[in-house]
Amino acid sequence: MKVLVINCGSSSLKYQVIDSESEKVLAKGLCERIGIDGRLVYQNVSKGLDKEVTDAAMPTHKEAVQMVLDALVNDKTGALSDLSEIEAVGHRVVHGGEKFTSSVVITEEVINAVEECNDLAPLHNPANIIGIRACQALMPNVPMVAVFDTAFHQTMPSKAYMYGVPYECYENYKVRKYGFHGTSHSFVSKRACELNGTDYDKTKTIVCHLGNGASICAVENGKSVDTSMGLSPLEGLIMGTRSGDIDPSAVEFIAKKENLDFAGVMNLLNKKSGVEGISGVSSDFRDLKAASDEGNERAQLAIEMFCYRVAKYVGSYIAAMNGVDVIAFTAGIGENTGWLREKVCNYFGYLGLKLDDEANKVAGEDKLISASDSKVKVYCVPTNEELAIARETVALV
Ligand code: AMP
Repeated sequence: MKVLVINCGSSSLKYQVIDSESEKVLAKGLCERIGIDGRLVYQNVSKGLDKEVTDAAMPTHKEAVQMVLDALVNDKTGALSDLSEIEAVGHRVVHGGEKFTSSVVITEEVINAVEECNDLAPLHNPANIIGIRACQALMPNVPMVAVFDTAFHQTMPSKAYMYGVPYECYENYKVRKYGFHGTSHSFVSKRACELNGTDYDKTKTIVCHLGNGASICAVENGKSVDTSMGLSPLEGLIMGTRSGDIDPSAVEFIAKKENLDFAGVMNLLNKKSGVEGISGVSSDFRDLKAASDEGNERAQLAIEMFCYRVAKYVGSYIAAMNGVDVIAFTAGIGENTGWLREKVCNYFGYLGLKLDDEANKVAGEDKLISASDSKVKVYCVPTNEELAIARETVALV
């Protein structure tokens, strides 16, 4: 079956066409600047062709989806001979609140329920719905599935997801930890257990999803039992530009000093903080490493803070699960930076965790990176959220 996977933002739309039998990507790309002017990036991967970039007006997401569909059946570079080959569409949806504990086939009721979660993800959910509507308008008879970033974490116990605020905030407004990157944490934890040759249902795994957005998840016997992001993706690790955990009083203090309203201070915490805010160099770890190697002390500090926070979360999840069998590193930073994995793992010598220095040079490949006598097995596992969405979609349709 060929599946179109859609990840829709407010002014962008990423897509892939995946053949579910071979699990190969046939075509991929993105539409950018929707509603502003419009640009389509398209690549026929199955034929190994180069990316094509086309500037064209995209007043709404509907025109964007139409351009993607046209490109997919284009005489010269199309990856499909006919659009009827697309038998299902899988949509990434960011927030499923407490309503969605797994992926679902999209119906009008599902869309209404996703809309009810808009409050919890005001930047993402409305865009996800726009993408669903645009695809429905152009492919009315194709079944569609919603795959939620939050669903995997719905197995967390209440002691992990509740905040220490009046219970009424939960009862009345559903204020609690939800967690994100669920598709990635689920995919990577399963893959790590597969590589480890252990039963997913009997393994304690910690997944470090370290990308521009970063989160950690404790997966006990196949279930998420805790994760570092919260009501929103701002909680937890220090990220590219997000602060992660901070004393709420510091937020009020900064807002007063800088004369910022809620929107202003949230912008500071989401977009101007993290390793970029600390270093003043960049949110990209390649730039940070280069600056750090040249002696830039704030870049060095940002790296140390990032790794320390990762280690603190990993340590707390070892306590939460009363042990750990497997630690997996994934996403842009986790998959590509042996030096950073080493810095994090150095905190766990007391557990008998030992890396294999040669194996730890790996980038972007599934690989065991711990030494043969390490008490904890450590893996590099590239994440593949699109493939995970395609698998869920096929399973449901
Ligand atoms: P992601 O959000 O998963 O796409 O990860 C993006 C981040 O991964 C970038 O901001 C970089 O900091 C980091 N990254 C990607 N490739 C490398 C690399 N080869 N070395 C160091 N960092 C990398």
